[in-house]
Amino acid sequence: MIIDCHGHYTTTPPGVGSWREAQVAAVTADPTFVGLKGSLDVTDDEIRESIESAQLAFQQARGTDLTVFSPRASWMAHHIGNASTSLFWSQHQNELIRRVCDLFPDSFAPVCQLPQSPGTSIDASVCELERCVLEMDFIGCNVNPDPTGGMWTGPPLWDEYWTPLWEKMCELDVPGMIHVSVSTNENLFTTGSHYLGADTTAFMQALSSGFLERFPGLRLIIPHGGGAVPYHWGRLKGMAEDKGWDFDSLMDHIYFDTCVYHQRGIDLLLDVVPTENILFGSEMIGAVRGIDPDTGRYYDDTRYYIDNAETDDSTRRMIFSENALRVFPRLKVGGDRQ
Ligand SMILES: [Zn+2]
Repeated sequence: MIIDCHGHYTTTPPGVGSWREAQVAAVTADPTFVGLKGSLDVTDDEIRESIESAQLAFQQARGTDLTVFSPRASWMAHHIGNASTSLFWSQHQNELIRRVCDLFPDSFAPVCQLPQSPGTSIDASVCELERCVLEMDFIGCNVNPDPTGGMWTGPPLWDEYWTPLWEKMCELDVPGMIHVSVSTNENLFTTGSHYLGADTTAFMQALSSGFLERFPGLRLIIPHGGGAVPYHWGRLKGMAEDKGWDFDSLMDHIYFDTCVYHQRGIDLLLDVVPTENILFGSEMIGAVRGIDPDTGRYYDDTRYYIDNAETDDSTRRMIFSENALRVFPRLKVGGDRQ
C-alpha cells in the first residue's frame, strides 16, 4: 500500500477556471462584490476524463495506490477579493474534490482548502472545515500560513488568531498541511522561494513559539520536504538549544513529506528526519513536470527515490503508508472504505 499524502487537482475541467475568472473579474471591478455561489459547469464525464488522463494515469504508472487529494494550491489565492469571494470559491473547490473522490473512491481521499481571507476572522475556515469533515468525509485540510499572497502581513501561526482553527482540527482529529498559494510579491517565485520559504517559516514559527504544545494531538505537515529544515537541521537544533526551545517535542506534531525531486535530497531527508515523521508525497502533477535527463525519470516520481534509498523495508513501509494512516486517522483503506 502506497499512500501519496500530497496531490492537488491541477487538471480541472475548463468550467472551474471560467467560474473563477468571472468571480475575480466581478470582485476586481467592485471590491465589495458578493454575488451568488452559483454552480460549476462541470460534468462527471469531464472530471473522469481529467483524472483518468492525468493523476490516475501517473498513479498507475508509478505504482502508488491512493492520493490524498486537495484543490490546486496556487489557485487558492486567498488574497483575492473579500471573505465571500474566498468562501464561495473554497466551497466549490471542496465540493469538486468530493466529486473526484466519489468517482474514484479507491484512488483518492479528500482534503479541503479553507476560505481564509486576510483581515477577517478565521471562523469561516472553522465552519468550512467542519462542513467538509462531518458532511463530506474529508480527512484533512490545507492551511495557508500567509493568505496575503506573499506579503506576510497577517498574524503568525502562534498568534491567538489561529486558536479556533487548531482547536477544531484537534476536535475533528484531522491534520493540516501548511501550504501557501500564489505569490503576488514579485520578490518571491510561487513554487520556488515562496513555497519553500513558507515551509521553513512555518517550522520556525512553531519552533520559536512552542505554540503546538498548547494543542495536544495537533498535527501539521510541512510539505516540499520541509523546505530548508532538513538541510539546516543542525542550525535549527543548535538555535533551539541556545534559546531554550523544545526541538524534540515539536516532533510530536510536525511531519515532512517527500516532495523532494532528486535522490540526494531524499537521502538527506531520510537520514536526518526521524522516520516516523516522514510521509510519502509526490505533489504530482505539480510544480515540476519534466523528466530529469540524468535519470530519464520524472523529477516528481518520488517513489523511485524512496525505493532506491539505502534503507530497509520496514522504514519504507512507515513512509509509504503506516505514518500516513496514523496522521490521517479518518483515512480508511481497503475493506474499511465505503
Ligand atoms: Zn502542494
